[in-house]
Amino acid sequence: MNFEIQILGSGSAIPTKDRSLTAQIITAYKEPYLIDCGEGTQLQMRRFDVKFSKIKHIFISHLHGDHFFGLFGLISTYNLLGRKSTLNIYAHKELEDMLLCENSPLKIDELVFDIKFHHLSDEEKIIYENNNLIVKSFPLNHRIKTCGFLFQQKVRQPNIIKEKITEFNLSIQQILDLKAGKDIEIDNKLFPNNELTNSPPAPKSYAYCSDTAYFENIIPIIQNTDLLFHEATFSEKDAMNAEKTGHSTASDAANIAQKANVKQLLIGHFSTRYPNLNYLLKEAQNIFPNTILTEDGLVIEIS
Ligand SMILES: [Zn+2]
Repeated sequence: MNFEIQILGSGSAIPTKDRSLTAQIITAYKEPYLIDCGEGTQLQMRRFDVKFSKIKHIFISHLHGDHFFGLFGLISTYNLLGRKSTLNIYAHKELEDMLLCENSPLKIDELVFDIKFHHLSDEEKIIYENNNLIVKSFPLNHRIKTCGFLFQQKVRQPNIIKEKITEFNLSIQQILDLKAGKDIEIDNKLFPNNELTNSPPAPKSYAYCSDTAYFENIIPIIQNTDLLFHEATFSEKDAMNAEKTGHSTASDAANIAQKANVKQLLIGHFSTRYPNLNYLLKEAQNIFPNTILTEDGLVIEIS
């Protein structure tokens, strides 16, 4: 499957010349989805050649400025470019209130396109679904209401072995039954499904967890994901700051990855206090070796 993550911003709180604020593009089956939209996101999309007019769904984890201030500029640009398609925004209700209020810098009624708001809740739930993909939101543990997002490929139908279609002269109904995973009868003999089909590739998944303190409640939700993004704002030596601000250390992120048995861990949302992030990388790798650092522009294919 075409399932790709592109990091547009990997820093936290304050943008620097090397690290923009949080935003990621998930591309699944050629559809781009935007998660979070820190200040400068539209410039990062220009810089990394993201076709941002194709984005129909934006997911905002929480309403701290470094995760959504870029939304105002992006919506304004869409308006100036004469966007026609509806923009779906998945966020806590307060974002809709903010955008629709009398003093909003955006006059929503005057936009040339529609915005549809979908409210996030405190429970794990499916917030978007199409033929190929399911997106779930789930609560994290931060200073304000915050959600993580899980992108999961749907289980695909088994592939029928071509030669078997001609060998047994399979009918359309038999083909449909095989695709539905059923065993079928041919000339009064029962054939198990796996004798006539190849199993589809295992469904892929991506979990996004930012911002959050160490929070074991998420482990069953993100269990066995192929790629986990988990914030690692601090190093363990600054664990007191992490606790005070509702953030995680690199060790926290690695412990979650290990307990959830994910395949790969991507850490990010780094505090600007660390000039050398290899220190955070080593800290995480001591617990969970298959860890990598985010950097602006990084593309990871989940294959
Ligand atoms: Zn935050």
